[in-house]
Amino acid sequence: MIISRPQSGKVRTRRNWVMSFLVFLFLSAPWVVLPSGSPLIRLEIPHRMFHLFGGLFIPQEGLILWFFLLTMGLSLFFFTSVIGRVWCGWGCPQTIYTDFFDRIGRWILDSKYGKKDAPVHKKYLVYFLWMVVSFIASFHWIGYFVSPYEMAGDIASLTFFSKSYSYFIGFFTIAMFVDIGFIREQFCKYACPYARFQTILMDEHSWNVTYDYKRGEPRRDKKTQIGDCVSCNMCVVVCPTGIDIRDGLQVGCVACGKCVDACTSIMAKENKKTLIGYLSLDQIETRGKVKWIRPRSVVYALLLTIVISVATYKLITRVPMSMIAAANKSMPPTLLPDNKIRAFVAIRIQNISPKPAIYALEAFDTRHNKEMLVRSGEGEQLTLASGELRSFSVVIETQTLSESELKEKYIPGMIRLKNVNEPDLKIEKVLSLTIPGN
Ligand code: SF4
Ligand code: SF4
Repeated sequence: MIISRPQSGKVRTRRNWVMSFLVFLFLSAPWVVLPSGSPLIRLEIPHRMFHLFGGLFIPQEGLILWFFLLTMGLSLFFFTSVIGRVWCGWGCPQTIYTDFFDRIGRWILDSKYGKKDAPVHKKYLVYFLWMVVSFIASFHWIGYFVSPYEMAGDIASLTFFSKSYSYFIGFFTIAMFVDIGFIREQFCKYACPYARFQTILMDEHSWNVTYDYKRGEPRRDKKTQIGDCVSCNMCVVVCPTGIDIRDGLQVGCVACGKCVDACTSIMAKENKKTLIGYLSLDQIETRGKVKWIRPRSVVYALLLTIVISVATYKLITRVPMSMIAAANKSMPPTLLPDNKIRAFVAIRIQNISPKPAIYALEAFDTRHNKEMLVRSGEGEQLTLASGELRSFSVVIETQTLSESELKEKYIPGMIRLKNVNEPDLKIEKVLSLTIPGN
């Protein structure tokens, strides 16, 4: 476990702002309830409903989820190819909370933080505070799945431990405490899958934390110095993953920029520019500008634009209702004395809009273009609250069929669910009725 030396500087200040903003977003988002009464973000897995920015989604809308994951994947490809591992250094919870744990450690133990001879009682106070931070973070993480208001109420009424989500909070609290407190950089180096394929995504034009070996080397060796690097080792001492950036691009570098600040302060004493900065390898070789536009970044950007455009179109044209209709197999269709077919259909509908809606069902014989009668014990119109799912049976009756129609094997039909107040919102499902005896 590495306890790196703190380092102030321009990058540190900017990262503090970005990290504070991200932590604020993470902690506040689960508490936000929109004027419609639905949460801003909540993935209600037991109810199979996902509230996202005013929209309500269900697992059956797999295409939207697929687009979302594709957008995430392509964004990762695009941003890594252009600005390197910016996510690792500026947005990853592992980096942010490691930083936060270190602050607590230094606040309590000061210079003894990370030392074997640190006072034991103070060490345990640090562990306790780490546990509290882990609990708060885990509570808010689970708040994306269960209402934090409900969980806070359960804590106040001492019923928290009887709820199943409390096990998840307990698990994540311990996992975070162990990971951030003791595993730390080992996770980035050996377990994080993203770190593994960064080298494939980046090239010599990626703008990343890089050591200017052209200026720095050959570094000072005892009294001999030809290049600018004075071998102070400050870039290694402040590195949270304990690597030496002068050895080149490595899996262990999370692009946190602490070595940039360290070298900037060392080089300032020599009236020189930092040897470590946000540079591309090509820039070091050519002393030119960063090449932002290149085949790799253009291809990723194009793919990302296409996927985002299609996803946006899908979201705009999305019909916020769902219906499953299937012939009731235990009650086959019957032929009535007046030559009508009566069929029994099982229906399951769900209102996936953020407000209540009134629905009506219609059915058609699509081959002969005739309307069919739909009778339901639920009445002619059904009012469903936001997210409500209802299953029921309907009876569908055709109009009187001619002799030639009765010789057909089945009647190709269609059942339609429409929003009474917004008739443009409708979904249609194919439903064929078999003709008894054929
Ligand atoms: S090498 Fe520099 S940027 Fe990379 S992890 Fe270490 S301190 Fe951060
Ligand atoms: S901080 Fe800069 S000068 Fe010091 S060892 Fe690292 S690269 Fe060389």
